[in-house]
Amino acid sequence: MSEPSLSPEPFRSYPYGGRQWLGRTKHGICRRGYGLRHQRVTGQSACAYCGISLVDTYDHWLMMSYDHVIPSSICKALVIPQAWVDDIINRVLACSGCNGFRNRYQPQEHFACPTNLDAFITLRDRVFADRRERILLSHKEDRQFYERRPWTIPTMR
Ligand SMILES: [Zn+2]
Repeated sequence: MSEPSLSPEPFRSYPYGGRQWLGRTKHGICRRGYGLRHQRVTGQSACAYCGISLVDTYDHWLMMSYDHVIPSSICKALVIPQAWVDDIINRVLACSGCNGFRNRYQPQEHFACPTNLDAFITLRDRVFADRRERILLSHKEDRQFYERRPWTIPTMR
């Protein structure tokens, strides 16, 4: 039997390397409820995209959000079962900064509907890599804007 391919971080720290169904986590508010449960099940405590710790300071903890890797809208278009969409293996903790970018993510190519777990994971890993690359590019652009410190430009009166 050939070795199964490894998923990218953060999925490797999930039970079974993030390659088996783990069930849903919901109810409550993110930081005290489902986000906390996700942390306990997966060991994930940093933003999946930029890597900032979501537990090292209170201010960072406040930035915790819970993201669908394959977005719900795409899952709906592909008619992927809701239980798959909401399974922990399709979810990551993200900081609110990263979660705010690319909210209307659309894939560049047409994806076929995954019909089994392996196909779903392959799609998840591709979408994750694609979204991560786009999010990091958005960070680069935002950082350049920030570093111009536009709020310091004196207003004309
Ligand atoms: Zn982030």
